[in-house]
Amino acid sequence: MSNSSSLIPTYDFSPSLNAGYLKKILPLMVQHNVAANPINYSIWYDYVAGHNATLNAAVNFLIKQQKPFDCDISVDLYQKYICNSSLESFEKINVQLHKVIEQATSAINDTYNKAEETNDSFQKKTVMLENIPETGNLKTVLEEIIQETKALAITSQTMQGKLTEANHEMEQLRAELAQVKQIATTDGLTGLLNRRAFDHTLAETLEQAEPAKTCLSMLDIDHFKRINDTYGHTVGDNVIKYVASLMKKHADNHHHVARYGGEELAIIMPNTSEERALEISETIRSSMEAARLQRKNDSQSLGSITISIGVATMQQGDDPESLIVRADNALYKAKQSGRNKVVYHNQLN
Ligand code: GH3
Ligand code: MG
Ligand code: MG
Repeated sequence: MSNSSSLIPTYDFSPSLNAGYLKKILPLMVQHNVAANPINYSIWYDYVAGHNATLNAAVNFLIKQQKPFDCDISVDLYQKYICNSSLESFEKINVQLHKVIEQATSAINDTYNKAEETNDSFQKKTVMLENIPETGNLKTVLEEIIQETKALAITSQTMQGKLTEANHEMEQLRAELAQVKQIATTDGLTGLLNRRAFDHTLAETLEQAEPAKTCLSMLDIDHFKRINDTYGHTVGDNVIKYVASLMKKHADNHHHVARYGGEELAIIMPNTSEERALEISETIRSSMEAARLQRKNDSQSLGSITISIGVATMQQGDDPESLIVRADNALYKAKQSGRNKVVYHNQLN
C-alpha cells in the first residue's frame, strides 16, 4: 500500500521551514491566549502554513468575534478541519478498492476470452480430426492443440498471480479501513466511543432492542469547573480519563461506553436489567468517591472528586432522544439533590 492512503497527515519535514513556522505560531498562540498543547499546535501550525483555507477562515472568524480559544472550540476546530483527514482517507481507500476490483475483473475477463478462443479453436480442430485421412496431418493438428493448451495454462497462471496480488491488496485495504473506522469513532482523550459513535450505537441498539431490557446511564463529574480552575486543564483532562477507565472497568463486556461531550460520559447497556444498570452505576460512583487522586508532578491530593449518574430504562416507543431526556432528567435530579448520587428515572416522582 502506498503512503498516499496513510492516516498520518502529510507535513513538510524541512527543519528550517518548520523553525520559521514555530517563530510565527508561538507568538500567535500567546497573543490569542491559546494553551500550547498538541491539539492547538496542530491547529495553529496549519493556520500559519496556510494550506488549509477553510481552517484559516474559521480561525479568522473566531478572532474577529473575539471568541476565547477554549477547550470546546479547539476540539471542534481540530475535529472539523484536522481530523477530517480521516474522511479523505476513506475516499482514498475507496478509490484504491475500485482500482483493485477493476484489475481483478479485467484479469478474469482476459482469461475467459482466452478460454473461449481456445474452445472455438478446439471445436474446429475436432471437425478437422474427424475428416483427416492421413496421419501426417494428425500430428500437426495435435501439435497445435498442445500449443493452445499451453497458452491457456499460461493465461490462467497469470490470472492466478493477479488475483493473489488483488487479494493481498484487498486485505491491506480492509485493515486500513478498520483503522480509519477506529479513529473516526474513538474519542481522542479517553479512548471511549466518541459522540458520533454514541449517537449511531444508541440508534442501532434501540432498533434491535427489547424495551425494558435496555438501559442508558448518563454520568457527569461534580463541580468539574472547580477542578479545572484549581488545578488546570491538564489535571482536568486526567480526571476525565480516570472516570472513563472506571466506567470501562465496571461496565459489562457487551456495553458501549462513550464520551457524550466534555465531562459527560455515558454507557449504553443492551440486554441489561434495571437492577444490573443501577448496580454498575453505583459501583462506578462509589469507586470514584473512594479514589484518592494525586497530581502527577507533586503528588498533591486532589481531594474527593465525585460524580452524579442518571439511569433510565428503554420504554415502548422510545427513540434515542426520549431515552436520553429521561436519563438526563435523572442526572439533573442527582445534581439537584446534592450530587455524588445515582438516580433512576422511576424514582423522580
Ligand atoms: P456540575 O456539578 O453541576 O456538573 O458542575 P460543573 O462545574 O461540573 O459543570 P459545568 O458545566 O459548569 O462545567 C463543566 C466544565 O467542564 C466546563 C468546561 O470548561 C469543562 N470541560 C469540558 N470539556 C473538557 C475537557 O475536555 N477537558 C477539561 N479539562 N475540561 C473540560
Ligand atoms: Mg456537565
Ligand atoms: Mg459537571
